This record gives sequence, C-alpha cells and structure tokens, in this order.
Amino acid sequence: MTETNFKTDLDADGVLSVVWDMPGRSMNVLSADAILELAELVERVVADEGVKGVIVSSGKAAFSGGADLTMLEGIARVYATEKARHGEAAAAKAVYEESSRLSQLYRRIETSGKLWVCVIHGVCLGGAFELALACHWRIASNDKSTRVGLPEVKVGLFPGAGGTTRVARMLPPGDALQMLMKGEQIRPDKARAMRLVDEVATKDEMAAKAKAWILGGGKAVKPWDEKGFKLPGGPVWSKAGFMTFPPANAIYRRETQDNYPAIRAMLQVVFDGLQLPMDLALRVESRHFAKVIRSPEAAAMIRTLFVSMQELNKGARRPKAVPPTSIKKVGIVGAGFMGAGVGYVTAQAGMEVVLVDRDQEAADKGKAFAEKLISGQVVKGRATGAERDALLGRITPTPDYAALADCDLVIEAVFEDPKVKAEVIAKVEAAIGPNTIFASNTSTLPISGLAKASRRPEQFVGIHFFSPVEKMMLVEVIEGERTGEVALATALDYVRAIRKTPIVVKDSRGFFANRCVIAYMLEGHLMLTEGVPAAMVENVAKQAGMPVGPLSLNDEVALDLGLKIIDSTRAQLGDAAVNPAQEKLLRALVETEGRLGRKNGKGFYDYPEGGKKRLWPGLAALAGKTLDPDTIDISELRHRLLVAQALEAARTVEEGVVTDVREADVGAILGFGFAPYTGGPLSWIDGMGPRRFVRLAAALAEIHGPRFRPNRLLIDLAETGDTFYGRFAGGGAAPAAAA
Ligand code: NAD
Repeated sequence: MTETNFKTDLDADGVLSVVWDMPGRSMNVLSADAILELAELVERVVADEGVKGVIVSSGKAAFSGGADLTMLEGIARVYATEKARHGEAAAAKAVYEESSRLSQLYRRIETSGKLWVCVIHGVCLGGAFELALACHWRIASNDKSTRVGLPEVKVGLFPGAGGTTRVARMLPPGDALQMLMKGEQIRPDKARAMRLVDEVATKDEMAAKAKAWILGGGKAVKPWDEKGFKLPGGPVWSKAGFMTFPPANAIYRRETQDNYPAIRAMLQVVFDGLQLPMDLALRVESRHFAKVIRSPEAAAMIRTLFVSMQELNKGARRPKAVPPTSIKKVGIVGAGFMGAGVGYVTAQAGMEVVLVDRDQEAADKGKAFAEKLISGQVVKGRATGAERDALLGRITPTPDYAALADCDLVIEAVFEDPKVKAEVIAKVEAAIGPNTIFASNTSTLPISGLAKASRRPEQFVGIHFFSPVEKMMLVEVIEGERTGEVALATALDYVRAIRKTPIVVKDSRGFFANRCVIAYMLEGHLMLTEGVPAAMVENVAKQAGMPVGPLSLNDEVALDLGLKIIDSTRAQLGDAAVNPAQEKLLRALVETEGRLGRKNGKGFYDYPEGGKKRLWPGLAALAGKTLDPDTIDISELRHRLLVAQALEAARTVEEGVVTDVREADVGAILGFGFAPYTGGPLSWIDGMGPRRFVRLAAALAEIHGPRFRPNRLLIDLAETGDTFYGRFAGGGAAPAAAA
C-alpha cells in the first residue's frame, strides 16, 4: 500500500510508528483521503500479528488542527443532492452514514485489541484530539505551543467523532459539559490535571515513554468497555446527576438564548449517551451530528468564522505584488489608553516598541500599562517571569522623536484633534527614514484628510484598533485616497504579526464597524424613549444574539462620546442627519444628569464600587412614558436591533466602504459581536433571503421611519433573486453593482 499521509515503521519490538505528515501542507488536517488512508492502515494493523502497539505522532510542527471543514461543508451538500434525487429520508441516511464514518473508525481503533498511543506536540484540536481520545494512552509535550481541545462549538458544530461521548465518560458530567461548551484550547498541565492526557513530558522523551508504556503492559481496553465501569460523576439518574443536568440546561439557555442548535444537541448527546452502552451512545452522537451539520447556523458559522477568517488571515486582501515585509521595530506616538494597548500587543508579538509621548512621565505610564498586563499573565501562570522581563525590555518609553529613526512602522494614537495630529505627523516624518510607513489610529477623522499633513501620503495608512486592544481581535485597515500598496501590505502584515484579523476598509465616516454599532445603539436609545423598559431593551438584544445590550455598550464607549458624534454629524451632514429623540435623551443624561457611562460610574447603569452594575432607576422618568411590557412585540424589537445593523452593513457594501462581503461578516462578528450564529449581517440577510429581508425592513420603515428603508443594492438583490455571497462570490464585491 502506498503511504501518502501516514508513514509507518515497525520496529523489532513490534511497535509500529505512524507519523502523520501530509504532503504539501503546513498542518495536518483530517481530509477525506487522509481518513480513507487511516482506515486502511487500521485494518492492516489489526490483521498484523507482529504489531503489538502503535504510536501515532505528527511529522509537522503541530499535531493537527482537526477536520478539514471544507470536507464537512461537503457533507452538508450531500444532503442537498441526495434530497433532490432520492427524498428526505434517503438524504438524512446518507448524511448520517457520511458523518458517522470517522466516529466508527475511531471506535475501531479503540476496540482493535492493539495498544494505541498518541504523542501530542503542538496543537491537537477537534477531530485530531478525538483521535487522541480514542487511543489508549496520550502523552503531551510540555512545549509552549502544545494545546489540546475540542473547539467545534466555535463554528456551530460539536465534537461528532466520539469526542463528546468519550469526554463525558472521562470527566464528571459538569466538567465535561463545561469543556465541550467552551471549546477552549487547553494547556498540557491542565489537560493532565483533567486527565484528558495521561502524561506530560519533554518533546524528546515522548517517543521512548510511549514505547515503554506499550512494552510495559499498557491496557488496550477502555474503562467503559470493561465490566463494572462506573461513570466518573455517577449515573445520570442520581443526586449528582440531578445537580448537573437541570442547571446545565439553564446555563445553556442563559449563555446561548437557544440560538445554537449544536450546543443544544451536545447536551442531549451527553444526557442520553451516559445512559447507553458505548456503541449505542456513539450512534446517538452521530445522529445528532448529522442533523447539526446541515443546520443553517453551522453552515454560516463555518463559512464566516473558519473559511473566510482563515482566508483573510492568510492575506486574501493583501496586494500580491508587494513582497512580504519584515517589521522589527514599531514606533507608537501617544502612550495613552489606545497607544499603551497597541504597545503591549506589539511587544508581545516580539517586535521592538518605541513608545513616545509628550514627556517621559506620560511615556512611562504607557509602559506601566504593559507591565500591569503581563504581570497579570505571570500571576495566572500564562507567562513566565523571564518572558515578562523580555517583553518589557522590548518597550522603550521616551519623549524623544529621534528614537523613531529606524522604525519600520509608526502608529500615532494621540488626541483626536486634526491640529495635534498634523503636528505629530510633521515631527514623526522629520525623524523617520524614507521607507517607514506611517499609520493613524484615528476613529473618526478621514485618513485622506490627515494625509494632507504628510509629505508622503502614499506611505500613510489607517490602522484602526478597537478597545480594549489586547482583547479585540479585529483591526480595520483604512485605505486613504493616496495610500499606496506597500503601506497597505505593511499594515496588513503588521496586523497579522500581532495575531489579529484585518479587514480593509475605504476611508469614510465611521469606517465600517462603528457605523453598524452606532445604528445598534440608536435603536436601543429610541426604544427607551418610546417607553420600552430598559431591562427589556437589554434582554431582547441578548436574545437576538448580541453579546451586550445597546445601553451597556454605550456605557462602555461613553455617553459624552455619543453626544460628540451627534455634534460632528450635524456639522458635517446637517440637522436632518441627527435623530432629535436620541439627542434629547443623551443631552439629558450627559448635560443634566452628568452621566457619562462606566468611566464616571454612572450611565444607563449605576456602577456601585465593588458591587454589580444595575440599570439606573431614573431612566423611566427620563423617557417620560412606560409601555406595558405585555403589549410590546418582542420579535419586532429583536428585528429592529438586528435589521438596523444589517442594513448599515448592506449600505457599506453598496457605498464601496467594504469591498469584500467576507470582511463585512468577519468584521461584524469580531468587531462588535454581531449575533455569531448568523455568520454575520450579510450571511443573515442571505440566510433568510434578501427578498424576505427587504420586506422585513420595509415593514419596519412603515412604523419607525426611513432609517429602515432598504438600500438600492438590497432591492436589486431581492428583485433578481440574488444573494450577497451569490453575487459577490469569492469575496470581491463590485461596489457600484446596484447603483
Ligand atoms: P488618550 O487621551 O488616552 O491618549 C492620547 C495620548 O496622546 C496621551 O497620552 C497624550 O499625552 C498623548 N499625546 C497628545 N499629544 C501628543 C503629542 N503631541 N505628542 C505625543 N503624545 C501626545 O486617547 P485614546 O483614547 O488613546 O485615543 C487616541 C487615538 O485613538 C484617538 O485618535 C482616538 O480617536 C483613537 N481611538 C480611540 C479608541 C477608544 O476606544 N478610546 C478606539 C479606537 C481609536
């Protein structure tokens, strides 16, 4: 048999080494052909009496990222074609058979009678970790890069190759559910403590230890296949089970608002599976998996949060002609709230940082922020003292612009004032070399306008971070009118170097994410002024799938900032662009009540020191009226909150602000948490069909006014029966398509 993806070598002691090393790929994935080859290999092992045990390892830097999600997308397609040809029942059966194949293969490994050991170095996730779980013994390296986990929930799935069923038999059910629902990547020491791996060793020791375990009489039978097996947390129908499953249901509802079919199915798989023998439990798991994989939520999440995100991270929008840039040293001017965060993430990625502010004290304050964050990591065991020292050693705080001389990139994050920025641009340009790229982190000022103060506008670009910088995964890269390809490529390379996801946005008011966020907050404000109870506004937003309600969100970004945006909107676009009810509400809160948001401990919420935040009781009086909650149409509120954002996203596509539909969806989920189960606002529109969306928006416009009127692009998609992804396939959206 030819060995393509797995190379085997049988030693004199009957130990077969299986090295997973797929040709032409930097990372092993469970593709259809790899699974087929593994299945043949397993049968060979079973039939070969000379094989005592098998050691599975990887020939790559990491073990494996798991299943090829495009293959999983393929399984979902099987359903559509089979249904069209042979009807619903046959289609469901075909998907079940496809999706249970890997599960059956792993079960074959587990019950083969041979000893299987998995040697894990680097990441071992999803389907790959399910393979490890099917093995009889797991050893992980204590390397920094090693992580195990089952992150399937993050793309609308759950572990369907036996992972759910095995974890539920290995851990007490509460711990198992938590691990499965969170989908976190787990470090080796923690995995060992949870007994997900049996031993942790240095990379070099692992193979010898694995062999010693095989020759030393390891057991080729899993506990659940032995007589008298007892579940680690006791039976489901027991006091302990009662303490677990009803609360788990409630937690599921609280955390997901029942928007995620995969997580609901997973709960069911664990609950039912623990009451069944292993083989039957695995069939139950496969049956649910076959259903979940054809859910619209899984399809949307896989596309946006895996396929599109990976494409963007691999440089889908990077100008191809520019060779890779090497960014070793980054200057940051303005070491305030944002600059300090940017300095931290840059130093954390291994780059040298020069942190400039008006005086030494202000610059030092920026570095102190990095010290606080990294020290917190050390306390939590996520970084060592040596790593902290090295990181801080890379940050040089100074008031001296001359220190920027040999920087590859300089990012300014000074006050949001065009005059201050112009002065800073001039000072920086006097200090830097001819090839340095200059970036502004402005959130409201047009990049093309700021670039007028530059002598080299083609080397001028926007890099728009979101706060808190160390947590937010999205960065908008803004192309000014004269931004050149090298500047754009450098900005994109930099964003990737700090391990965030970039989207490329055309220079325009509010760029992309903030426009949608402003539309979301406006809706929340207006609901309040209409007499909808504040708690209902917040809860409905969460039910719709938003991570935080519009009022909470406004408190985080500051209420006075909202007023500032209203003022600048009026100045730029005139009175008609300002909503009077919103302005009245914000003026009353900020100017009369002095409520600025979380920053002064009072906004829509009160923030008692040391206590939990609570909605401010004065809000109802401010609104002037209160509707009877029983008369309020909750689904209309939910639609308003999502439609307002989706409409704004559709407008940005029509205006050419976003030129790639993938970026709108990825940007919306990473930037402001747009209901992830939808796959993003454009996927949400496509999912229901632009025709239905246009009807929904038009109905809302009838009641609430022109802000809900669908734009021309949407009407055109509806009329032609098209979709965003249908028309703009492969990403590139022709901005003027419907104009
Ligand atoms: P900040 O007031 O916290 O920090 C500004 C820093 O710039 C201060 O430390 C100040 O001393 C320094 N500074 C001012 N003039 C300077 C000069 N001439 N030379 C050197 N340093 C100077 O403000 P921030 O919230 O960090 O915002 C900075 C920029 O980032 C603004 O353009 C803002 O629009 C943008 N931004 C802010 C957010 C946010 O959430 N705060 C988000 C995205 C972008």
